[in-house]
Amino acid sequence: MEENLTEASPLSMVPARDHAVPNKNRLSVLSFPYDESILQFIAKNYPHTTIHDWNNWNWQIKHSIDSADRLKEIFGEFHENVIRSLPEDHLPFRITPYFSSLLSRLSPNHPLFRTVVPAKEELITTPGEMIDPLCEAEITPVPHIVHRYPDRVLFTVTGFCAAYCRYCTRSHMVSQQNKCHVSIRSWDRAIEYIRINNCIRDVLISGGDPLTLSDSGIEYLLSRIRAIPHVEIIRIGTKIPVVLPMRITRSLVNIIKKYHPVMMSLHFSHPDELSIEAREACNRLADGGIPLGSQSVLLKGVNDQVEIFKKLNHELLKVRVRPYYIYQCDPIPGSAHFRTEIKKGIDIINGLTGYTSGYAVPHFVIDAPGGGGKIPILPYAIKSTNKEGVTLINYEGKEYIYPEKFSHNLEI
Ligand code: SF4
Repeated sequence: MEENLTEASPLSMVPARDHAVPNKNRLSVLSFPYDESILQFIAKNYPHTTIHDWNNWNWQIKHSIDSADRLKEIFGEFHENVIRSLPEDHLPFRITPYFSSLLSRLSPNHPLFRTVVPAKEELITTPGEMIDPLCEAEITPVPHIVHRYPDRVLFTVTGFCAAYCRYCTRSHMVSQQNKCHVSIRSWDRAIEYIRINNCIRDVLISGGDPLTLSDSGIEYLLSRIRAIPHVEIIRIGTKIPVVLPMRITRSLVNIIKKYHPVMMSLHFSHPDELSIEAREACNRLADGGIPLGSQSVLLKGVNDQVEIFKKLNHELLKVRVRPYYIYQCDPIPGSAHFRTEIKKGIDIINGLTGYTSGYAVPHFVIDAPGGGGKIPILPYAIKSTNKEGVTLINYEGKEYIYPEKFSHNLEI
């Protein structure tokens, strides 16, 4: 029988006497940060739970909120737009107790609520929307490998996530019963594909969320991929620091750092996600020498303002996360209420460029529907060319000429 390394391991048992309303003094020795509002949230919503349980990531997954009824118990009445019962095969609803505590610390109508709680608009498919907009199924040579670019592959190691983002590009595969728990045999087949294709120098481990795997599962993957001589870089794509920061244990960081260079792409959407817990998670990863970038999806009514991105990017840099990409939201079915005009992304980049440090200005990209890969959408910076040179426009709209000998040959 194959060992299943994708399941969360059994909860560590906590002595019965520890199941009490949290005692701040006793708990002050615990390493993950918390504040008084968390203790109140736990006492109200999980009355027989200690902060020790709370900071156990397996406990968090086991107690995930996955029904409208439980959501209502925590938040009271909720908006009539929330879907009470999801159709079969629809992206399910799941958030961690931690993320619900974060939402409860924000205002009742905070836009982050919409990013994880299903709304009725999801059931309306509009023209141009596709189940697999990036056509990844067409470039899957073996299960769990997406090989679009010549020198790198995407390795989807699980279909499970700690929270399901309502705009997820891979909503067609995440959470599906037959794709959540991937067997070691399928991993091995994918690893063998990487091994025999020596053009692959960069492997992006994603999913689903790979950091929902057990430590042993993650070590299994990293050790085998790192043993392939032509793989130079391993990257991990994850939303865990945002929705389940207590998963970033010191033992996890110690495992990852054995296989450097390992980089991580995090998925922050809004500055209010940078709680004390999320900051701790990012700092632990950065202390482990893991270069961190953030990829955000541009979401209508959630983060589609210059000031929101400026704040988000500044806060990310403070915890050593480089804002890397802003993605135009992919046209999956039922995504129209999240998608902005492309011009909005350009306006945001224009609103950041020159007004903040370059480290705080990510690339705005569209993952081309139909499988064309990422296309950077650059603000218009070149006005014209002539024999004097190239006329550039700066962030204030002022013109400057860059002298270039063959400028008249430059194609724009
Ligand atoms: S964490 Fe990533 S893979 Fe999972 S639902 Fe969100 S966007 Fe999709």
